[in-house]
Amino acid sequence: MPLRDGDWPDPPASPEAAPFWAAAREGRFLLRRCTACGKAHWYPRTLCPFCLGETAWEEASGEGTIYSVTVLPREDPVRTVAYVTLAEGPTMLTSVVACDPHALAIGQPVRLVFARSRNGTPVPCFRLVAAGGPPEPALSW
Ligand SMILES: [Zn+2]
Repeated sequence: MPLRDGDWPDPPASPEAAPFWAAAREGRFLLRRCTACGKAHWYPRTLCPFCLGETAWEEASGEGTIYSVTVLPREDPVRTVAYVTLAEGPTMLTSVVACDPHALAIGQPVRLVFARSRNGTPVPCFRLVAAGGPPEPALSW
């Protein structure tokens, strides 16, 4: 069973990340992209981790693929820890939810879904994209 909505630890607050969380509360997933070299990165930083150039917020697609995944079977409920490579390029540490954790595999397409932490903050997680099925809403379980 995946981690239940509302069970996530609260993410730390920081002034630099405030726009990210404000957008997340509106259901939007933001990345920062370098205005000098053009690369996007995760987690959001003011200066580009590749060239130290200035960066700007942009809305990401929420599409990605599983780069690596592990199941934590002793957690109750069982949960996953995954690296997901976003369509925009960066790879982020996250969790794949609302699925059979043992059915997950490298290379599977996933889509962003916000899970809520204990204080209601939307935490970016992912769910599997059903092969051949209709697009699923990005903001519901
Ligand atoms: Zn750069």
